[in-house]
Amino acid sequence: MSDQVGSAMSSLEALLVVQDHDTAVDQLRHRLRTMPERSELQALETQQRSVAVQRAEVAERRDEVAGRQAGLEQTIAASEGRIAEIDARMYSGQVSASRELQAMATEIDSIKQRISRLEDAALETMDEREPLDQTVEELDRKSQELAGEGEQLRAAIAANEAAIHEQLAQEQEARAEAANAVPEELLATYEKLRTRLGGVGAARLEHGTCMGCRLRLPASELDRLKREPPETLLFCEQCGRILVR
Ligand SMILES: [Zn+2]
Repeated sequence: MSDQVGSAMSSLEALLVVQDHDTAVDQLRHRLRTMPERSELQALETQQRSVAVQRAEVAERRDEVAGRQAGLEQTIAASEGRIAEIDARMYSGQVSASRELQAMATEIDSIKQRISRLEDAALETMDEREPLDQTVEELDRKSQELAGEGEQLRAAIAANEAAIHEQLAQEQEARAEAANAVPEELLATYEKLRTRLGGVGAARLEHGTCMGCRLRLPASELDRLKREPPETLLFCEQCGRILVR
């Protein structure tokens, strides 16, 4: 009899040890899921996407302006080439008719006027382009900065995860060891209650209070429990959890 009582009591004590490890495992898993660095990383990735979209928009405008600028510069270069050609012909000695020379000089003048207008337009595109180039540079810097922060966060998450997984493995090993001392049927009852009751299936009865639901048991119920033999499996009449005296 005393052996039976002893084993019943120790199996309930062992069940509480199992409960402690299960609670620790639940808390570790919760920490894995709710790691603050994870939501920080999510917010950062959202910011990265928005910076990338902004950069693409500004770069597109910048490229359009740069394209216009390059077109103007090409036209200016071509016009200057044309002047050089005419100039060369004028001073080659091959053209002697003054009317023709006059026409060439007039053409050079008109090309020069055109070049002057093109240069003004090219300057305007440069002015237009400058702030766009700056914005692209700023966004590139921002994007690099965010990438660096992202790397740090990912490293922190990996380190946290590794530490938590290590603790989880320890808790699970200790839990398995403690569960060896708990009869299968009792363990199954506990598991069912634990699933239904927010992770706590067994609790100690302390000074008349169930530590599972933190409610004090009525005096009549306490009297009844006291009269039960020690090996009897008791349940809290309020929350339904296994009570360990
Ligand atoms: Zn209770």
